[in-house]
Amino acid sequence: MSHFDRATGAEPRAADAGSESDSHAEPGLRSEPGTEAEPGRESAGDEDDAPDLAAGRRTESRLPPAEAFAALGNDTRVEILEALLELGADDAPVSFSALFERVDLADSANFSYHLDQLAGHFVRRGEEGYEFRYPGRKVVSAIFTGTLTERAQLGFFPVDGGCYDCDGDLHGWYVDDTLTIGCADCGTVHVSYPFPSGGLDDRSAADLPEAFHHYVRHHYCLAADGVCPECTGTVETTLVADPDESALDVAVEHVCTRCRYRLRSTVGLTLLDHAETLVFHANRGVDLNTEPFWAFDWCVSDARTTVVSTDDEPLRVRLALPCGGDELRVVVDETGTVVETTLAE
Ligand SMILES: [Zn+2]
Ligand SMILES: [Zn+2]
Repeated sequence: MSHFDRATGAEPRAADAGSESDSHAEPGLRSEPGTEAEPGRESAGDEDDAPDLAAGRRTESRLPPAEAFAALGNDTRVEILEALLELGADDAPVSFSALFERVDLADSANFSYHLDQLAGHFVRRGEEGYEFRYPGRKVVSAIFTGTLTERAQLGFFPVDGGCYDCDGDLHGWYVDDTLTIGCADCGTVHVSYPFPSGGLDDRSAADLPEAFHHYVRHHYCLAADGVCPECTGTVETTLVADPDESALDVAVEHVCTRCRYRLRSTVGLTLLDHAETLVFHANRGVDLNTEPFWAFDWCVSDARTTVVSTDDEPLRVRLALPCGGDELRVVVDETGTVVETTLAE
């Protein structure tokens, strides 16, 4: 069975998606120090233009998460955020009158009240009108990606390619915001990963696997490069032997030091943007950027992963990647870093 979890302890089944860490469920509603990239914040107490990073952090308008959610718990306020997007607030400030007209509330005092509740944390009020602050823009993105509001399902649909284990046909299904691809014959799950339901819009079942491949691959490559795919915080990567509740002998675990987001995967998956691995495949006519990664057993199982360290040494594993009759052997250390590659032709 292949393992491809994004949260510790979650079995790679679609049904478990709902019980995962909720650290990804509230895009934009965290206002951690340093997350805001906007100069010229107009709030009181912002006189401090000290050049060093710590002093320059803008913490004065942090809103506790419960208050942030409360501020959004009103249809009119959500409508105002949507109206800002529709009226082009990404490009230029939107005037009060244009917003008021768009939201279609009879009472302008009532409208002003709701707008005031958004100002500061979600919306910036300037001389020329209203613009998004970063959290407000993220809320709108989340609404349109479907992560906050919709529940979609998609029954079994055929997926190109064959099972790495038994060569059977692949199929996919979408439940609980998670897309899963597995073997229709032997039942092996090749990949199961949360995918915003907005990604189903405008895509046929035939197009979906390609988008899914890019989305998941980029998340794992970001984490492997030390950047949290959820909050851009710093990610620490470690190899883990005999991980809990996992059929893998060795897994890679990525943990964000800021938001505690966790991703667990096979070791092979961290090689998807490793230069020599890419070149080895490219020279044999395989493009790892576009070829669905679940086609490779070294990527979605640990069948080709061997522990090469002894008990009292830091964990170290070797992967043997076959392609075109040759083999690339890659040694990975306890931090997930490639320390040696050998080509066997
Ligand atoms: Zn199979
Ligand atoms: Zn994070």
